This record gives sequence, C-alpha cells and structure tokens, in this order.
Amino acid sequence: MAVEHNEAVVLRAIKDLVIEPIPVPDLKDNEVLLQMGSVGICGSDIMYWQRGGNSRFRLEAPMIIGHEGSGTVVKVGSKVKTLKIGDRVAIEPGTPCRRCHQCKQGAYNLCPDITFCATPPDHGNICRYYKHAEDFCFKLPDHVTLDEGALMEPLSVAIYACRRGEVTLGSKLLICGAGPVGMLYMMAGKVAGASQVLITDIDDNRLEMAKSCGANHTINVNGRDKLEVASEIEALMGGQPEVTIECSSVDYSYDLAINATRQGGCLVAVGRPSGRTLLPLDVALRKQVDIKGIFRYVNCYPAALEMLSTGKINVKSLITHHFTFNETLRAFETAISRDAKAVKVIIHCDQ
Ligand SMILES: [Zn+2]
Ligand SMILES: [Zn+2]
Repeated sequence: MAVEHNEAVVLRAIKDLVIEPIPVPDLKDNEVLLQMGSVGICGSDIMYWQRGGNSRFRLEAPMIIGHEGSGTVVKVGSKVKTLKIGDRVAIEPGTPCRRCHQCKQGAYNLCPDITFCATPPDHGNICRYYKHAEDFCFKLPDHVTLDEGALMEPLSVAIYACRRGEVTLGSKLLICGAGPVGMLYMMAGKVAGASQVLITDIDDNRLEMAKSCGANHTINVNGRDKLEVASEIEALMGGQPEVTIECSSVDYSYDLAINATRQGGCLVAVGRPSGRTLLPLDVALRKQVDIKGIFRYVNCYPAALEMLSTGKINVKSLITHHFTFNETLRAFETAISRDAKAVKVIIHCDQ
C-alpha cells in the first residue's frame, strides 16, 4: 500500500493545537509503519496543552501530541520478523536505547536516551501514519479492540504501580485520586489479589464511578482533616492499608497517604506535585513506610495484554467519549470540561 499523505495533531504552543500535514515517515529495518487507530487523551497531554509542560519536561518546539495509541501495520521494515501487514497492535510509546546500563539491567524505563511519544522533544502519535520499533508493538488478538489497545498504556502504568507496591493476596489497598488511572490501579490491584480497595477524591462523580468500577469504599476528603480521614480509612478497612498509591499530586494527599499507611507498608508515589512537597517524613521514617518513586513502567505491556485478552480486566467501561481525528480539539475540550464528566476520551485517527 502506497501511503502518500499524512497529517498530525500538533501542539504548536500553549493552547494552540492544530492539524497539519506532515511527511510519511521512512522506515528503518526494524520498524513498522502503522495506520493509527485509537489514541486516548492522557492527563499529561492536557498538561502540555494547557500549561506547556509536565513534570520536568517543557514544550519548546511544536510537538505532535498523544501517546496512548494503537494502530494497524501497513508496511514493515526489511528485518521485521514478528509483524505483518494487517496486524493490529498496541504501541508501547517509549523506545529505549537498549545499550545503556539501565537498559542492560532491564530497567529500560529509566534509560536516559529513551524516546517517548509526546514528551518533548519527541513527537507523539495522534496522526494518520506513524512508525514504531517492531518489538515495542504488541499484536492484538482479534477479540481485543483498538480502543482497548490504546488503554494498555495507562493499564501498564497501573500494573507497574501494583508491582512496585507489591500488592498481593489479601492486601488492603488505598488509592488517593479517582481519575482514570486511579480506576485502573484499583482494577489491577484487585487482580493482583487486593481484598479491599478504598479510593479518596474530592469529586463525588468520580467516587461514584469508582464505586461502580468495584471500589469497596470511597471517601470524599474535601476540606477534611487528614488524621480524621486516616482513622476513618482504618475503621472502614478493618485495619490500615499495607499499600497506598498516591496519584492526585496534591500535598494534602501525600500527607494523608503517609499517615494512613500501615507500619512497614509502602507508599507508591505516582502523583507529581508541582514544586517542593512538604512530607511528614518523620512519620514515614518512624512507621518504616517505604516511599517508592515510579517512572512510567517497564515490561508491563505483555501483562496488560494478557489481562485484557483473558477478560481479567475490562477497561471499556472507562471510555466515556469518542471523537474523529478532525474533532481532536473538541476531544481535548471535552476531556477538561467539568460538565462532560469525561473519564477516558478516545480519538479515532482512522476516522
Ligand atoms: Zn498516559
Ligand atoms: Zn538505554
């Protein structure tokens, strides 16, 4: 198939998202050309769009947005062995150097030379055609949709958080933040063996969603004293949680998390607070609560695919909105609109 025309959704500057023609990429031997299918909008995409930055990364030049993608192979490089034209794949957005110390140790998420979709200066994949390394594309079985393939990205984040926190049989799991990833932490945590999941947030709609997705308990922490909430968590769960995953990025929530976690437990610190954070370190040290940092995920796509293809985790309920490629700006506006109550918004690049 001769692909001649390509276009992409380019973030030119803060709040300046436009559709522009781009070249069809040339393939290296180990790469495949994909007709993009579904791409989910992530909180980090919104940060770049609204604020021009996310964590330590700043938008300094126009960048194609999007990193939670799936697509269909339309062309293969000369040394590609495992994929063929017509295969539908989920795209793991980070391609590491494969040569550095971290890569050799298997921690390729920490590779200093990793290229990662829609992280400046690397382009993302809300475009018509996109190329990617063969071994970071995961072939979807026929019964797994392109939408589900796109959601393998945030699901991988969740799987990695559960691995870092060592969620296991009978764990009590506290999740601070009931956004789309919070929901996925809950689903992954339950599959990993968590017996109870309690989710906190300040938005009742999100907590309702959490309940309907399987949360055992929810607490709206808006305006509440952290120690009082920590006691309520202990009472509701019949003991303090061994594992807490913080994904709301606010100082209050970190403070609550450390106070609520059981002695000898673990806090997986996913949320990225914007400046310096005041943590009750004395409490964490005294209680021997391990605070574990986390950066993206490593070797989690195979597990995410297993979970979806066997039906152990159903991510479809998280998808609340669909848009075509040309409606991308509306898709982004919907993702941040309070009224839309969006959880996961999907852009269909093939429509
Ligand atoms: Zn994401
Ligand atoms: Zn490397």
